[in-house]
This record gives sequence, structure tokens and C-alpha cells, in this order.
Amino acid sequence: MTKIGLEIHCQLTKLESKLFCSCKADYRSFEPNSNICPVCMGLPGSLPILNKKAVEKASMLSIALECKIPPKISFFRKNYFYPDLPKNFQITQYNAYGPTSIGYEGKIIIEDKEIRIRRIQLEEDPGRLVYSGSSEKTQITLVDYNRAGTPLVEMVTEPDFENPKQVRIFLNILADLVENLGIADPYLEGAFRVDGNISIEKGNRVEIKNVGSFRDIEKALHFEITRQQSLAERGIHIPAETRHWDEARKITASSRSKEEEQDYRYFPEEDIPKIIIEKTLLDSLKKIMPESVMSKKERYINKYGIPGQVAEILSSDKFYSDLFEQAHTEKNAKEIANLITTDLKGFADTNEQREQLKLTPKHLSDLADAILNNKITRNSGKLALQEIIKTGKPLSEIISTLDLGHVDDESSLLKTIEEVFIEEQKAVSEAKQNPDTINYLVGKVMRKTKGKANPNLTLDIIRKKLDSQ
Ligand SMILES: [Zn+2]
Repeated sequence: MTKIGLEIHCQLTKLESKLFCSCKADYRSFEPNSNICPVCMGLPGSLPILNKKAVEKASMLSIALECKIPPKISFFRKNYFYPDLPKNFQITQYNAYGPTSIGYEGKIIIEDKEIRIRRIQLEEDPGRLVYSGSSEKTQITLVDYNRAGTPLVEMVTEPDFENPKQVRIFLNILADLVENLGIADPYLEGAFRVDGNISIEKGNRVEIKNVGSFRDIEKALHFEITRQQSLAERGIHIPAETRHWDEARKITASSRSKEEEQDYRYFPEEDIPKIIIEKTLLDSLKKIMPESVMSKKERYINKYGIPGQVAEILSSDKFYSDLFEQAHTEKNAKEIANLITTDLKGFADTNEQREQLKLTPKHLSDLADAILNNKITRNSGKLALQEIIKTGKPLSEIISTLDLGHVDDESSLLKTIEEVFIEEQKAVSEAKQNPDTINYLVGKVMRKTKGKANPNLTLDIIRKKLDSQ
């Protein structure tokens, strides 16, 4: 059986400062090597001071992932030599001597399957290596330490995934979760990086390092399954190794022999004392934490009768669920959920589109009420929504300028229906034989009135007319 486990690095991009110094956590807008200080450069005599907010954010994540949180957390040095690591060690957390990382033994449920979270740890990001040209052929490698020391959480799952699709669903849920918690913007370049460990039946574990996009990790895992299966079929040994995803060639390639844990010579970071995680802190965090996506989804289904799939889309996207929360009343909740997930979606999928939206929660609420009170048809509602998105004008104005109001006037409807009966004689005689085909005639009336005819009234009149003929 295929087994996949993940290691996810998520930068705490919503923090002001780095993990152990007061340099900016948002390193992206700085000239290279200008967002640095003696602490994040590891200069002799400098001492790290732990960022309290980082502990709080990571604790929130632990709570949300139903992890156990130890009474005391501690930090370790992970030693390795690499140009992007100015101290020659990374300050991280390590559970080999008992759980002292910010969380352990948590879980996320995806499509009724439990994915166990082995641990969550707080650690610092290294600097960045910048190559001129491709990393294989380049003559020059530049080092930028602006990122060194920025706060990260690393989440490690058990190898509970059976296929790449489960991985994608999991990552989407996780990304929504960190966004909802206000911990990180997972869509910032480099903010969310994934390593995948994958093995097939009787094969060795292969690690794919540092994939930057969700789509690519899914592709990389698919590629690995095919590659490993084809080796196994030919009786070729699958070595345990680290590979990287070559974005351009859409393949994984061997990068280096994998370090063993002992190669890192972990030892306690004595410059940072053990930190007691008070229960009162956790309780106060729980109070300010937003409702989880799962419980939001359940509430939408149980309280408002919103269908599961619609509730899923609505709850997992913070932008949509905020809009819903501000717009809905008990009565129009279902209609608003519908408007957002069918009619608004497509106009508000990217951040750019969202910034340009002229739509307010009141617009949505008015629109849903107008549809529910039969003032406009759902079809006209769609047109009105498109106009609102562009202009931001009040709904009443849009209904009158675009002439979207319902045709409720029986005599004018009757006139249109009579025209249709003359033009569609064949359909009329068919409808007399087979009432199921009556919708065709309703459709014709709708088209003639540009979707404005009151559908129930139209149906009534057509039925009466058919009976009387
Ligand atoms: Zn610094």
C-alpha cells in the first residue's frame, strides 16, 4: 500500500518580528541583507529572546489541530553547515527526550478519514540562496539573510495518506485553517512549503523536499508513485533518498543522500529557558480564536439547512464566510449561501477580483430578500448581482434602471403567453398530451420577458389555457 506523510513549513507571516530578535518578520520588501541584526546573524555574544506572540500563534494552531500541549516547551539546536544558515545551527524543537514541542498527537479529519498530526514545532527559517540562472548550471550563488530567523511552524503528519488527492484536500483545509486563525497568509510566495515522504509496498521511504505549491506537491507525488512502481516491477531496488521537484521538467530528481537524525547532533538550546505554557494562556487563546471551519460548516448545515457541499465552500473560504455572516438573517441565510457559492463565485475567486468588488453585505441581503419575496426572479437576481459587483449601486436603483422587476401583471403575461401559443403550436399540442413538456413553454415565456415573468404565475396561466383549449 502507498503511504504518504507530510512535513509542512508554514511561516507565521502575521507576526511583526522574527522569532528571536526584533528584525521584521516581513522580510520580503527589504534590500538583500538589510533586515538583519547580531542575533539572527548569530554573532558571538548575541542572545536570542523568544517572541511571545509566536508562542501564542503556534499554541492556537495546536489547539485548532486538537494537539496535546506540554506544560513546558523547550528549544534545541539542530546543527548543520549550509551557506544559508549563519549560526551553523537552526533553533528548533525536538521531541526525542519527551514531548516539549508546542504540540503533539493532533488530527485533522478529511472526508471521514483521520490524518494524525505527529507534532507541531516552532523554529526559525534559514536565509535564502539566490542563484543566477538555474541552480544546476549557475556559477554564482548569492546569500540573502533577510529571512534568517523568521518564525515558522513545522507540522509533521503520520504517514496516513493513501493517495495524492487526499494530500491536496488536507493542504487546502490546513491553508484555510491558518488563514482563518490569522496566523499566516498561506498564499504568499514561500509562506507554505511542503516535504512529502512516500513509499510504496515493500519500498524504501523517499523524501521530496521543499515543494512550494499545492498543485506541484500533488504532481510530484503522482510522479513518484509511477516511478517507484516502475522500478519495483522491474525488480530494481528503490533507495531511500531525498529528491527534489523539478518544476520545469515536471519530474523529481535525486538531490543528495539523506541526512540521518544523528547527523544533526541535536542538543538543548540553553540560551532560551524552558517556557511554561500556562493553562490560563490557553484558555484565553481559546476565547479569542475564531470558530473552526469544521464547526462553522456544521452550524451552517444544522441551523440553516444549507446543503453540505455549499456549506463546505462557504465555511472553508474566510472571505465568503465573513460575507455570509455579515449579510444573512435567519430567513434568507440559505438564499445568501446560494448567491455566494453559485452566482458570486467566478467573480470573486482571486484576491484582485475581491479588491475590486463593489458589493456590500447589505447588497446581498437585499438581493436575497427580493428573490425570496418574488420581487425579481432568480435569473434577474443574477444580472442584478453582476451590476452591483461593477457599480456598487443600491439594488432598488439597479432593478429600475435595468427594468428587472417581476412581470406580475396577469394581463401582460397573458398577452405574451398567447404569442407563444401561436408561435409554438406543436409544443402546445405536445404539452396537452404530456404535461411534463410544459416547461418548454414556460421557458419560451421567460425568454420573451427576458427572465422577468413570475414563474409560478406563468405556469398557472399556461395550465389554465391548455385545459380550456
Ligand atoms: Zn535580527
